[in-house]
Amino acid sequence: MDERTGCVLVGGGPGGVVLGHMLARAGVRVTLLESRGDFDRRFRGDSIAPAVLDHLDRLGLADPMLAELPHVRADRFVWSTPTRRYVLADYRGSSERFPFYALVPQASFLPWLVERSRPFGLDVRMGARFTALVRDDTGRVVGVDYSAGGERRRLLADLVVGSDGRNSKVRQLADVVATELNSSIDICWISVPRRDGDPALSGLELMSGAGYTLAVLGQGSGWQIGFTIVAGTFDRVRAAGVEPLREILRERTPWLGDRVDLLDDVNDLTLLPIRITRTDRWSEPGLLLIGDAAHVISPVGGNGINFAVADAAEAANRLAGPLTAERVAPAEVDAATAEVERVRRPMIDREQAFQVRVERATARRLASGSDPKPPLPLRLLTAIPGFARFSGRRAARAQAVPAPAPLILHGRTPGDRGAPSGPGGRAT
Ligand SMILES: Cc1cc2nc3c(=O)[nH]c(=O)nc-3n(C[C@H](O)[C@H](O)[C@H](O)COP(=O)(O)OP(=O)(O)OC[C@H]3O[C@@H](n4cnc5c(N)ncnc54)[C@H](O)[C@@H]3O)c2cc1C
Repeated sequence: MDERTGCVLVGGGPGGVVLGHMLARAGVRVTLLESRGDFDRRFRGDSIAPAVLDHLDRLGLADPMLAELPHVRADRFVWSTPTRRYVLADYRGSSERFPFYALVPQASFLPWLVERSRPFGLDVRMGARFTALVRDDTGRVVGVDYSAGGERRRLLADLVVGSDGRNSKVRQLADVVATELNSSIDICWISVPRRDGDPALSGLELMSGAGYTLAVLGQGSGWQIGFTIVAGTFDRVRAAGVEPLREILRERTPWLGDRVDLLDDVNDLTLLPIRITRTDRWSEPGLLLIGDAAHVISPVGGNGINFAVADAAEAANRLAGPLTAERVAPAEVDAATAEVERVRRPMIDREQAFQVRVERATARRLASGSDPKPPLPLRLLTAIPGFARFSGRRAARAQAVPAPAPLILHGRTPGDRGAPSGPGGRAT
């Protein structure tokens, strides 16, 4: 007999783990398949926005997370040229309790949330690689095949969610059409340790100069530094070697001192080919895509993790009821998945269009060797008092996450099948 669950999530990134947590709290039987054996990932979207912290707070998770996980708090997004510092956004007015971004590495956030989800019954299978969609006679998706420990297995479910990231195999096998919007830049990342006496940078800084842009992100015990390059020119960067990059670091981050020498081999650079991908649909009967699987966005704006969490929250709210019904009605599940796309898509489309514009302008300036400083209208706006706070609140609106449905916050009512219990629940 094939194994059966309520909802199978393929992929344990921020989208999959947050959705798994929320559905499990509502009492849905959830199985999460993650192909990797651990969550030890580097150089990912780690900047958790104020609106997402508020969301985690409503689930009773923000305070324990900030207390238990090393992180950096960034309350401003700053772009500095060699001569000026522009505060492009100030987040101090964007949340009452959490007026800052928390830079928490996914490598610590994901296992932490998984542990907090197990008491609600979330079944997480590591080293479990999705291989195929299972369909019934009508073509409806009714489960998945996966391999784990050298064995092939089948898991049937009322709903399959593809949260398997930018190269989503679920998306591919569902014949969803994915269109690349042709990103114009790529990023090469390095990380260096933090030391006492390092300057109090915001944690979310962009530094530009003639022919370069550096992202300098504060993280728990280190600095994550990204060199922006024109898309497809990594071979040229490799051929030039590390010295030009070290030169830029010596000029713009002299406080790193001898840590610049840690970049001594071009292979120390981790290339992130930036992609902006739009899909023709996020769902079909029995199937939903969320996060990067549904829409790859670029790191411009630092929203990869935030949008994946917002998709997950929207999906959990709409699916918790249909998936906990005594008899699950496929039509209700499908109506809910279609609603997730209807509600989330316009904001994602706007963000992707904005990213394409910003990246094209940056790439033009990089290629011409000029300073890719903020465009003139933006430089003028930053001179207006209150602009940075306005822009921080505007960003918060784009990142808004819907409040968790009562079923998720309070679980099933006693007498249903026993209310779920476990840590992370908020007093009702
Ligand atoms: C190398 C890299 C660097 C990034 N840097 C930044 C950044 O600096 N700023 C930013 O905002 N965003 C960045 N992003 C994007 C950001 O990390 C993502 O937008 C965010 O993590 C999306 O979350 P997700 O849950 O949708 O997918 P992901 O976080 O990509 O998670 C997908 C998960 O699915 C698993 N998986 C894949 N295939 C299978 C399968 N067949 N079976 C089972 N599991 C599978 C993967 O192992 C992974 O754990 C980066 C992404 C990458 C890949």
